Amino acid sequence: MSIERRSTRRVQVGKVAIGDGAPISVQTMTTTKTRDVEATLAQIYAVAGAGADIVRCTCNEIEAAEGLAQIVPRSPVPIIADIHHNHRMALAALDAGVDCLRLNPGNIRKPEHIRTVAKECKDRGVPIRIGVNGGSLDPSLYTKYGDQVTAQAMVESAERELEHFHAVGFDDVKISVKASNVPLMIEAYRLLADTVDYPLHLGVTEAGPLPAGLLKATVGIGTLLAEGIGDTIRYSLTADPIEEAKAGKQLLETLGLRERTGLDLIACPSCGRAEVDVISVAEAARNALEALDIPIQVAVMGCVVNGPGEAREADLGIAAGRGRGHLFVKGKVVAVVPEDEMVEQLVQWAKTINEDGIEGALGRADDGAALEAELDRQALLDDKGEDANQSGALIETIRRRTAVAAN
Ligand code: SF4
Repeated sequence: MSIERRSTRRVQVGKVAIGDGAPISVQTMTTTKTRDVEATLAQIYAVAGAGADIVRCTCNEIEAAEGLAQIVPRSPVPIIADIHHNHRMALAALDAGVDCLRLNPGNIRKPEHIRTVAKECKDRGVPIRIGVNGGSLDPSLYTKYGDQVTAQAMVESAERELEHFHAVGFDDVKISVKASNVPLMIEAYRLLADTVDYPLHLGVTEAGPLPAGLLKATVGIGTLLAEGIGDTIRYSLTADPIEEAKAGKQLLETLGLRERTGLDLIACPSCGRAEVDVISVAEAARNALEALDIPIQVAVMGCVVNGPGEAREADLGIAAGRGRGHLFVKGKVVAVVPEDEMVEQLVQWAKTINEDGIEGALGRADDGAALEAELDRQALLDDKGEDANQSGALIETIRRRTAVAAN
């Protein structure tokens, strides 16, 4: 039996389509400080390997927006900026190049602020998630519905936000009406699904630690998915976001909404540092590795400067540089091979990991590989400098706009 899904409009979050029959995507949220670019990117790669299709990062301060300017061009998955109280952070996140915003209508309430952000999103072709949260509902709605959070109040919150968006001709929207109370959350989403045709982002907010949090979120999200409601999902657990990504992926597999595969392949987006055509190497790697049917996480990275570090959580990876491929296991370079042998060597090392485990593979690292890799890395850094993606120019724009707003 297959689930008949509710028909909706479609929004495009970077390369990931949401709604209108697109595969249901899994989201999670980083727990690092967004201003810590390297730690945030490492977590993004880790959750992408665990099954996240889209990642949300908080943008709560100017340094976070500046971090996003450096994270977005190097992230393997689209990035959504989470905005709570300050609409200027939404504008700064847009300057940073994010793929989508999440606005909480309970927290940003001034119509002129909402419209300014929506207008800018319209001009840039960036969608917004209206993220209604039962715990931070607009006080006027809370009062209107008898000093309690009801499904009607949450849906009305989303409708009010939509009115502001429509006032500036903006319609590129997905919506969530999350609550920590599961029956309330289910009721709110059902009502919303009957009221609008926008794609819906499902979640039980603050579900809590494992195992109870997992259970709560699964009942809420799973019930709605089984009814055909929901286009993208997030588990909000008090746990490592890797657990959230894994749970999302497993739930979709359980319901037959995502194909089960043994291989988790992630590829970097190939930014200004790329030394190889990442897409074609990733495709060749996928074809070769899928045939092996080994449960393994593999990263294909465009450069040796950041590749092994960004994808250090992957079991195995390859990063390109100066006509060679650096093979790495859990972020440690184990071999340096000619570029045209990268995929073949990837297959050999995947077999080694399958037979001998990670420790066994690390024990077979070529003598001198780490040193050779470091020399290539330094040479590339010397060639292209520290700012190969011109993130500095975006950061300047963010600073200028924020300084003007503050004066
Ligand atoms: Fe990261 Fe290098 Fe790929 Fe750019 S080319 S995204 S820095 S691995």
